[in-house]
Amino acid sequence: MTVERRIIAGLEDIKAISLECKSCHSRVTFSADRKIDVPLSCERCGKPWRSQQSVSAYRTNDSAIVNLVQSIATIRTLISEDSIGFSILLEFEEPSL
Ligand SMILES: [Zn+2]
Repeated sequence: MTVERRIIAGLEDIKAISLECKSCHSRVTFSADRKIDVPLSCERCGKPWRSQQSVSAYRTNDSAIVNLVQSIATIRTLISEDSIGFSILLEFEEPSL
């Protein structure tokens, strides 16, 4: 028998969003309650983080929810292709058991 444990979190559980540079590992942390302007490059070492074309798939006519769900898959593909220069870290409160 295999015991599997998972943590299930909603978007409202996200306390902060951190972007960590893949080159120098410096982090920029934003409150999850406001819009984030993802920098084009690392503010510390200058490593390019993204191209301006990488956000062109965002369609403002769609709802934010549709864009979020579709963006997760797109971002995962970009990460697997090593196409972005930073990691996205979601911070949560430690779950109480
Ligand atoms: Zn950096």
